Amino acid sequence: MSPADVVVALDVGGTGMKCALVRPDGGTVCAERHPTDAGRGPDAVVDAILDVAEGLAGKARADGFEPLALGVAVPGVIDEAAGVAVWSANVGFRDVPLRDLAVARLGLPTALGHDVRVGGLAEARLGAGRGTGHVLFVAIGTGIAAAHVVDGSAATGAHGAAGEIGHILVRPGGPRCGCGRRGCLEAVASASAIARRYAELTGGPATAAEVADRAADGDAAAVRVWAEAVEALADGLATGQSLFDVETVVVGGGLAQAGPRLFDPLRAALHERMTFHREPRLVAAALGDEAGCLGAALLALDSLEK
Ligand SMILES: [Zn+2]
Repeated sequence: MSPADVVVALDVGGTGMKCALVRPDGGTVCAERHPTDAGRGPDAVVDAILDVAEGLAGKARADGFEPLALGVAVPGVIDEAAGVAVWSANVGFRDVPLRDLAVARLGLPTALGHDVRVGGLAEARLGAGRGTGHVLFVAIGTGIAAAHVVDGSAATGAHGAAGEIGHILVRPGGPRCGCGRRGCLEAVASASAIARRYAELTGGPATAAEVADRAADGDAAAVRVWAEAVEALADGLATGQSLFDVETVVVGGGLAQAGPRLFDPLRAALHERMTFHREPRLVAAALGDEAGCLGAALLALDSLEK
């Protein structure tokens, strides 16, 4: 590839799109953010994605770069092989053939990926998991999802739904999950579950970050809610380790911002749960909210090599 080569990368979320031109070595040439405005409906979101991608490709050419491919990351259930966004609650997609639409509009080879899986790809290859062949990336925010990355590629599963670690059953009969079942990991340990549980116990609203702060200050309800979440996360990660036997677990998403307040007790709780399994290194994500966009770029670059 020539030094002028770039790929166009988009990470589409419910509220915003992070976009960039990325060099083959992972360096970012220019980064932009645009609103998604998911409330306008799926057709308008598709138009916005294609407009932004086309704009970036044009900008690349105007600046003397050669856009080689497009990578797009979206949330939900993604059929990466077919390039179809099968289902996404956040952006209202149902069976949207996003790859073909992008190829028709931009004339560039296009790869479509799942936001957490490509985020895991980026953390494993360029971020906190760099240099280790087997990585589990776990994103903890309003939900909990994971990506299992082996030698730089993330498993998608037979139906595009691999990595739904948030729906591991950790507390049978426990709080109701968004999926309809009781006791899923994300119903206990996601940032939104932590906030909800604290409000239940105290009647007062608080974000997960505030619960972490109050737990550190000795607030009894916060200590309890935080401990419940950490224990549930350790159960989920121990199950993950039984399945995947990774070297490194990279934890990202909003909850990872709690730093040692999360990682110290979580490491201890995970250690307690290891019997014959090798304990994975547990580290915070390094790329922050750039991971999805960088991962979309990696996916686009990988598609060129095939
Ligand atoms: Zn669930």
